[in-house]
Amino acid sequence: SSVVITRQEHGISRKLMSPNALRVLYRLKDNGFVGYLVGGCVRDLLLGREPKDFDVVTNATPGEIKRMFRNCRLIGRRFRLAHIHFKDEIIEVSTFRAQASNEPEPEPNDANDAGHRQRDARMLKDDDGMILRDNVYGTPEEDALRRDFTVNSLSYNIADFSIIDYTGGLADLGAGIIRTIGDPNVRFQEDPVRMLRAVRFAAQLGFTIEEETRKALVAAADTIVRAAPPRLYDEMLKLLLSGEGAKCYDLLSQTGLFAALFPAFSSWLGTENESFPHTRFGAMLNCVDSRIQQGGKVSPPLLLALLFGEYLDAKAERFRRQGAPWQQSVNAAIAEFMGETCPTVMIMNRVGIALRDIISQQLRLKKIPGRRPESFIARHDFYDIIEYCRITHGDKKDVGKQLDWWVAQSRQEAPVPLPGLAEENE
Ligand code: ATP
Ligand code: MG
Repeated sequence: SSVVITRQEHGISRKLMSPNALRVLYRLKDNGFVGYLVGGCVRDLLLGREPKDFDVVTNATPGEIKRMFRNCRLIGRRFRLAHIHFKDEIIEVSTFRAQASNEPEPEPNDANDAGHRQRDARMLKDDDGMILRDNVYGTPEEDALRRDFTVNSLSYNIADFSIIDYTGGLADLGAGIIRTIGDPNVRFQEDPVRMLRAVRFAAQLGFTIEEETRKALVAAADTIVRAAPPRLYDEMLKLLLSGEGAKCYDLLSQTGLFAALFPAFSSWLGTENESFPHTRFGAMLNCVDSRIQQGGKVSPPLLLALLFGEYLDAKAERFRRQGAPWQQSVNAAIAEFMGETCPTVMIMNRVGIALRDIISQQLRLKKIPGRRPESFIARHDFYDIIEYCRITHGDKKDVGKQLDWWVAQSRQEAPVPLPGLAEENE
């Protein structure tokens, strides 16, 4: 069953939509296919927020989509979908389907989709109910019902500019409620990452998690570790870099998700709080949030340094007391941290190395000018090193002056290659 809200009854204007998404929708329609905007963009448009990306669903198959758009690439192994490439935007177009994939499918793959319709149509789940294989194509209603939350299931139909609601999403949007579609226990079992998404949307949109959804989330919090560690890393970055990281952390710790994701760090936070009331963690979350709210960027290694720096310092101090030289004690601290975190939240090696560099290069800032300051300034992570120092120790007057010196140096015109020379180098 569905509710249709006509264009006169809802406040969405096509002016707020990506022109490229509209182009895609009209092209589908002109070729006799159904075309809807779906998911986060419809939710955000209704809330008056700027959508991050525009997703389209259609009854055209990937092969049919490819024939309609020259700038189209088919991607995904388990479920094929189309990326329509524009100058600075990609519009994702997928065929209505009955069951969600529980993993992102980033690998491009240009093989044709002939075998698609013959695939096993049953949904396969493992013993614990986690989705292993997707169902194939479905109806528009099935496509809405496979989505995670009611507020993420609304669609916008280009044929008559109406909004279609199969799940009560509009009412929940108005009331500010995050509610799973269907039984939350089942939905969190199918894909534990939905628990993190519930937290992120609640924090980002200022919504509350509906009671049954919340109960199921708390009950299933420990099972978050069943999700793939690289995916948990990606999701954690989305939460902590959402601009509402402090709120996300509150929800994560209240529900038990944080302790499940970061067991060692979480118990350290608990004990350390009693003896050191000035744990930096909360202050750092707020600091990251305010930067992001002001439109700033925080790189993943800088984020990790800010959030876990105090913890890493404590670990390094332990190795130092055992007699390790300073640099070795930092390395050992990072190694121990990666070892205890990566089984649940997979921090990629190069991010771990970048984190180590930010922390170990702090000493270099004190040596002014030091040997070859220009090569230090030329480091790709120079500003992360500066920012980490400024945020953690910049309130000290002498440190502030050192940082100002470095920034002033870095602003002096770097040797710009002459145009002729630059070409010769190529
Ligand atoms: P954001 O603003 O973060 O992009 P979004 O709602 O668009 O929010 P996406 O991750 O871009 O989130 O996913 C697009 C849509 O796909 C969602 O709105 C939801 O309908 C569906 N979806 C995404 N992940 C899941 C999942 N794990 N389970 C079920 N449906 C999902
Ligand atoms: Mg999105």
